[in-house]
Amino acid sequence: MVPPVERLTFQPGMPLFREGEPGDRAYVIERGQVEITALWQGEPVRLAVLGERDLVGEMALVDDQVRSATATALEETEVVVVTRDRVRRELEGANPLLEVLLRGTLERLRTTSGMVLAQPGEAHEAAAGARRPGQDRDQRYDALRHSALRRLKTEQQLREAPDRGELSLRYQPIVSLTDGSTVGFEALVRWRHPEHGLLSPDEFIPIAEESELIHSLGLWVMETACRTLAESATGGDGTGSNGSPGSAGAPYVAVNVSAHQLTDGMLLDRLPAILEDTGLDPRRLVVEITESVLMENPETARAELERIRDLGARVFLDDFGTGYSSLSYLHRFPISALKLDRSFVTTMLDDRGSRQIVHAVGSLAAQLGLATVAEGIEEEAQVAALRDAGFEWGQGFGLAEPAERIDTARRVAG
Ligand code: C2E
Ligand code: CA
Ligand code: CA
Repeated sequence: MVPPVERLTFQPGMPLFREGEPGDRAYVIERGQVEITALWQGEPVRLAVLGERDLVGEMALVDDQVRSATATALEETEVVVVTRDRVRRELEGANPLLEVLLRGTLERLRTTSGMVLAQPGEAHEAAAGARRPGQDRDQRYDALRHSALRRLKTEQQLREAPDRGELSLRYQPIVSLTDGSTVGFEALVRWRHPEHGLLSPDEFIPIAEESELIHSLGLWVMETACRTLAESATGGDGTGSNGSPGSAGAPYVAVNVSAHQLTDGMLLDRLPAILEDTGLDPRRLVVEITESVLMENPETARAELERIRDLGARVFLDDFGTGYSSLSYLHRFPISALKLDRSFVTTMLDDRGSRQIVHAVGSLAAQLGLATVAEGIEEEAQVAALRDAGFEWGQGFGLAEPAERIDTARRVAG
């Protein structure tokens, strides 16, 4: 939990901090004036006077060196405290490049002010003291810089991956739990990295999403999945694939579409042309989205999902049960099926609570006329339990592993 914001008031002449003291916080001036001074040849010199909205002592936010100046209130001054812990928390999970840039900039500032204030003849040492080449002053920072650079490199390599033929799709069958027939396939992307071998999407989709690369990658996935299904053996005209629960007919291909991809509209702008070029019947295309997409940006999401529906394709709600979405979304958005998250399937045989949730999702879907897919089925006993809860389709290593090709003729025993 984020602690409440701390406010402090300083009377005229009171120091906020003194040169040479350790510091782990900065201040934003809400009201008043602060003088910044530093000792030069034994005498304090005024470096700046800061006022409303200015940031004071910000270098303490990224490293733990002592204060390089003294800050004193010139009049009654009110400040908001920003602690280093708080900044660290904000940076956790962010692109490491951000922290590297922040620290690099502040370090340079520290070096420069060090040089300005150094005694004659000491400037060189002050500069060198900030960061001697090859000297391991802060291992955490070095590791961070390393990972930021690596990430930049990965991003560059990912940019080139489609043209270099390094991307591929695996197709995992979705199987009818009643007769074992294959009703569809989920397209799952893989990247054969030039140095690290075959990577799973969890290792590169987040990077793609932060760097806008997700657009070209997503287009490649959509185009390839549609083409592969259209060219696969049975072909079929799609009749019967109308999304009604239990409909037989030509199998579908499901493509994962992330929040960015859906809401900025680029992929959907291209979708009619992709369907046209590949010759895939739109009724054989499923777009998988997660609940979070609906919650973050409901109005845009709804408009985009309606575009998908108007093209004749379907939308399935992925990882259902983990997103805490409001159930009212289920009938306000054009959704055809719920994909129950793997975590419930994994625990349902041993845990009564999760079994009850599975049953509740099964009857909710039936009430709303939605199809159901259970993910992550690994054991035979789960199939019977899911059937019992009203689930009609299933996906999992126990039924069929993701494969390099679409095999529409396959049938799973059971
Ligand atoms: P997801 O959509 O939940 O996809 C199902 C994941 O569960 C796949 O992992 C699949 O290999 C795995 N899986 C299938 N059956 C089982 C099972 O019985 N047990 C277990 N433990 N796992 C099973 P994968 O291929 O690593 O994909 C991970 C995630 O990456 C996907 O989760 C999806 O969110 C994302 N993803 C995959 N392809 C794409 C893509 O083309 N675009 C986008 N935006 N995301 C993608
Ligand atoms: Ca999925
Ligand atoms: Ca899923």
